[in-house]
Amino acid sequence: MGNSEAPDATPGAGSNDPVIDLRHVAKAYETPAGSFTALDRINLSVLPGEYLAIVGKSGSGKSTLINMIAGIDRPTSGEVRIAGTRLNDLSESKLAAWRGRNVGIVFQFFQLLPTLTIAENVVLPMDFCATYPVRERRPRALDILNRVGIADQADKLPATLSGGQQQRAAIARALANGPALLLADEPTGNLDSRTADSIIALFAGLAASGTTVVIVTHEREIASVVDRVVVLADGRVEADGPGALRSRDQAGASS
Ligand code: ADP
Ligand code: MG
Repeated sequence: MGNSEAPDATPGAGSNDPVIDLRHVAKAYETPAGSFTALDRINLSVLPGEYLAIVGKSGSGKSTLINMIAGIDRPTSGEVRIAGTRLNDLSESKLAAWRGRNVGIVFQFFQLLPTLTIAENVVLPMDFCATYPVRERRPRALDILNRVGIADQADKLPATLSGGQQQRAAIARALANGPALLLADEPTGNLDSRTADSIIALFAGLAASGTTVVIVTHEREIASVVDRVVVLADGRVEADGPGALRSRDQAGASS
């Protein structure tokens, strides 16, 4: 969906410049059987506050694409610009520092540190990046936990929470440093469908308040919730638009 009404989304960022701007991004993996093209000249532009879903069969390149946007992996060719920074130019250490401040990442299996409380898990990225003064970190963590609906779980250990609560905690941790961009690779893959719906809706609320959200998902009802669906097939953008998933249904979305 084009942002025709041009909301002034992320504070500070040049109003309607894309948060994600990929140009001819290709990724080839060298394998014993030869070179394998995981991403084939992807062009993708995502505006501030957009809620985008990436769908596609297993092996279509979804995780590879997310990793390019996160600066976890580098393209073989093409340009990756995120929030105005050209990631191609950054060294590994600069990239790691950049990522900690600018991107929040959520995974399928939550990956909370089991020996830390929920609040401590959320404080950790603030400690790593020294983004906020020490005395502000816990109050900020509690604010974010409140925002994702689990303030009452702050001082518990992850293992005592339900899967949905743990994923909310992981989302809170991803928000710790106030990123312009939230990336989630199959965040509902380990949740029952009702809990999954609530997580999908939580992301919608975050996008509505200005955070750009990109999720990889198999959820079939996603097209009615997100602004835009990008369908990947064999490393290429097969479809891109609000109704993309529906046109693909008869092909049988894998799940
Ligand atoms: P998806 O997330 O859509 O399931 P991926 O992005 O993980 O797909 O992978 C896309 C393709 O690239 C798959 O065929 C996968 O086997 C291949 N691939 C991913 N990572 C590597 C790697 N490190 N080396 C070789 N092939 C890889
Ligand atoms: Mg994947």
